Amino acid sequence: MELTKERFIRDFKDILHERQLIKVADATSVELFQALASTVRKYITPLWLERRNQLIEQQQKTAYYFSIEFLPGRMLETNLLNLGILDTVKEGFAELGVDFEDVKNAEYDMALGNGGLGRLAAAFMDSLATTGYPGFGNGIRYRYGLFKQRIVDGYQVEIPDAWFGSLGNVWETRKDHDIVDVKIFGNVSLHANEKGRIVPLYENSKILRAVPYDVPQIGFGNDTVNNLRLWDVEIPEEHELDYPTIEARRRVQDITAILYPDDSSYEGKELRLIQEYFMTSAGLQTIIKSYLKQGRPLKDIHEKVSVHINDTHPAVAPAEFMRLLMDEYDLEWADAWNATVKTMSYTNHTILSEALEKWDAELFKNVLPRVYQIILEIDNRYVAEMAGRGLDPQVIENTRIVKDNQIHMAHLAIIGGHSINGVAKLHTELLKEDTLRDFYSIYPEKFNNKTNGIIQRRWLQIADQPLSAEIDKLIGKGWRSDIHELRKLLEFKDDPQVLGDFYRVKQEAKARLADFIKESTGAEVSTEAIFDVQVKRLHAYKRQLLNLLHIIKLYWDLKDNPNKDMVPRVFIFGAKAAPGYHFAKSVIKLINEVANLVNKDESLQGKLKVVFLENYRVSLAELIIPAADVSEQISLASKEASGTSNMKFMMTGAITLATLDGANIEIKDEVGDDNIVIFGMDKDQVYKHYARHDYYSRGVYESNPDIRRVVDTFVNGTIPNVREEGSEIYEALITHNDEYFLLEDFHSYVEAQEKIDALYRDKEKWARMSLINIATSDKFTSDDTIEQYAKEIWNLEK
Ligand SMILES: *Cc1c(COP(=O)(O)O)cnc(C)c1O
Repeated sequence: MELTKERFIRDFKDILHERQLIKVADATSVELFQALASTVRKYITPLWLERRNQLIEQQQKTAYYFSIEFLPGRMLETNLLNLGILDTVKEGFAELGVDFEDVKNAEYDMALGNGGLGRLAAAFMDSLATTGYPGFGNGIRYRYGLFKQRIVDGYQVEIPDAWFGSLGNVWETRKDHDIVDVKIFGNVSLHANEKGRIVPLYENSKILRAVPYDVPQIGFGNDTVNNLRLWDVEIPEEHELDYPTIEARRRVQDITAILYPDDSSYEGKELRLIQEYFMTSAGLQTIIKSYLKQGRPLKDIHEKVSVHINDTHPAVAPAEFMRLLMDEYDLEWADAWNATVKTMSYTNHTILSEALEKWDAELFKNVLPRVYQIILEIDNRYVAEMAGRGLDPQVIENTRIVKDNQIHMAHLAIIGGHSINGVAKLHTELLKEDTLRDFYSIYPEKFNNKTNGIIQRRWLQIADQPLSAEIDKLIGKGWRSDIHELRKLLEFKDDPQVLGDFYRVKQEAKARLADFIKESTGAEVSTEAIFDVQVKRLHAYKRQLLNLLHIIKLYWDLKDNPNKDMVPRVFIFGAKAAPGYHFAKSVIKLINEVANLVNKDESLQGKLKVVFLENYRVSLAELIIPAADVSEQISLASKEASGTSNMKFMMTGAITLATLDGANIEIKDEVGDDNIVIFGMDKDQVYKHYARHDYYSRGVYESNPDIRRVVDTFVNGTIPNVREEGSEIYEALITHNDEYFLLEDFHSYVEAQEKIDALYRDKEKWARMSLINIATSDKFTSDDTIEQYAKEIWNLEK
C-alpha cells in the first residue's frame, strides 16, 4: 500500500491519542505497540473486506489448513514489511523520537505451537497470502500458549504463557456472525424419520458454543489479506442449565485453555480429543455454510473446497464431514463419501511411533458417539471393498481404521482423503517403503512429497537486516520479492572483497548475540570463537546429548593439554523440553551444569564456552540464528522428518553440520558436498541395525577408552551440582542400549567437528562456503512449497 511518512505520523498520533489518551513522549513501549498495531489494522481493514467480497463474488476454490498449532511469533514487523510500509514507519518513528526496536520488542510472541509443525503452519499462512491463493487457517485460540521456560539452578521451570496479557490480542477480530455449536458426549440412537430415512437421535449431549476469532494474514506486496481463524469456546446461554457449577463451567473453558506442550508423543487424554474435535467440527460447519451461500449442490463441495489435515490432530475431519453431510444436510452415503475423499488431504509429520495418534475406542465412543458410528461404518466398508479386490487379509488388517480396540487416526486420514504427503524426500520415501508401506501398495497415487520451507522474509529480511543490506549492494533489491535472485550472489563467490564483507556482517551479528548472552547469562564469549548452535525442541532423537558428549571430550582434551591447538568454540543451546519428559529435562540440567563447569575454568583459556539460552521461541530464534557459524542438525538418520531450522541457518550463512536426515539431504544437494559437513550413519545403516539387532552400546563403551572417559564423566563427580540426572544419562547410553546410536556416531561426529575447526581457520574459504549456502537457500522458500500444495494437492487458482 501507499503511505507517506506525514500521513503515517498523523494516523499514528490520532490513534494513540484516541485509544490511550496519551502523548507520544509519555507513552510506554507497550502503549506505542498497541497504537501501532491498531494503525496497521486500520490500514488493512478495507483490504480485508475487499478480499472477502472478491472471494465470494468469484467463487474461487479455497483451501482450509486445519492445524492444532500455529506458531507465528511476533506479527508487527512482518505485517509492516508485507504491507510495504516498514521503512516509512521507521522513518516516522525516527522523526517522533521513538525507538522502533523497543516498540517491536514490546510485542508478545504468539506461541500457539510447540515447534516445527506449528511454525510451518504459520509460514504457510504467510505464503498463501503472498502467493495470492485463497487459503485460510483453522485452529484453536489457546488462552495459554507454549509455556515460558525459566532456568533455575540448571533446571527447566515452566511458567504459563499468558500471552493475551491484560490487553488481549490486538490482531484478532471476533466474528459473532460465524458462531456455531458443537456437540459432544451423550447417547445416540438411530430412528427412521417421516421420510423413512435413518437419522440419529441425540440424548444428554453437551452443547458447546464455538466462537471464531480471525487474525489477518497479509501477503507480501500484493495487498492480499487472508484469514487465520482461531476458535474459542463459550457456554451457550440457552444451555446454561447443563453447566450448573463453577467446576462444570471451568471444564468447558479448559477446552481452549492450553496448548498441549508435547510435540513428539501422544497422550490419550480426553481433553485433547475434545480440543481436536471442537476445532475440526466448528471449522467444517462454517465451511459448509459459506459454500452453500454460493447456491451450488452440496455433493459437489470438493469443487470449491479443500480441507487440509496438518498431522493427525484434525484427522477426525473425514468422519465429521460425513456426519455433517449426511445427518445435517441429508446427503446419501455415496455422494457424501465421494465429496469427502475429494475434499480431504493429509500431511504426515513423523515416523516416530509414539507420536502416531490412536484413540482408545471406548473413550472415543464416549466423547463422540455419532462420529464413532460413522467411523465403524467407514471401516466396515473399507474392509469389505478391499476384500472384494482380493487383497491380502494381513494387509487389510494392517491398514484398517479400527483394530485392537483402537482408532488409528492416520488411517482415517489416508482412507478418507485423496492425498498423503511427507515433508522431505527421505521422509516420504520412508513412509512409502516402511511406515505406510501397506497403504502405498493400495493407494500409490495418493502419495506425494512436499518438502517443508521457511518464510525467507522473516528469517532474512527481518531477522538479518545487515546481511540483507549487503545483498542489496551486490545484486540489487530484486531478491526481496523474488528470492530466486539470490543465486546471483554466486557470481561473487571468489571475490575477496565481498567475502570479507560477508565475514564482517557475520561478526557483527555475533557481537549482537554476544551482548545478549552477557546480559542474559553473564557469560562472556568472544566473537573470534566459532559460534556453534543447536536450537530446537529437546528430544532424544535430535541428539543434543551427542553435542554434549563432544563438548565433554573437548573439555578433557583441554584439561590434558591446555595448549591444544583449536579455534575457540562457543556452544549455544536453546530448547524447551515437554514438562513430563524426564530424560529431556535431565539433558537440559546437564548442559547447564557442564556450562558452569567449563565457563568458570580459567585453565581452558576461553577456548571452550557453553551457553544455554532460556525460553527458546521464534523471536529468540531471530536473534540467534543470524549469529551462527555452525548449524547443528545431528538427529539420528531417519528420525527428523524434515527440520526447518536447518533452512533458516543456511539462509543466513551458517555451515550445516549434519547427518543425512530430513531436509539436510536436500540442503546438501543444493550446496554441494564441499559446503556442508556430513557425518554419521545413513538411514540404511540405521535400518540394518534394526533388522539385525546387532547394536550393543556397552560393547562400544567398553572397547573404547575415549568414549568411556566421556560417558563416565556423567557419574564420577566431575560435573558439579548434578544428582540423579548424571546416572540417568549414563543408563540411557549403556543400560538401555543407547536407543539413538550416539556412541556409534560419536567418532564420526568428532571427526566432523575437527573438520569444522580446520575449515574455519581459512576465513576466506569459510566465507565462500557461507555465501554459497545463502545463495542457494532460495530452494527452501515456503512460497514455492505452497505453490506445490496449491497446484498438486488442492487444485487452486489465483
Ligand atoms: C524453526 C523453529 C523450530 C523448528 O526447529 P527444528 O530444528 O526444525 O526442529 C522450532 N521452534 C522454533 C521457535 C522455530 O523457530
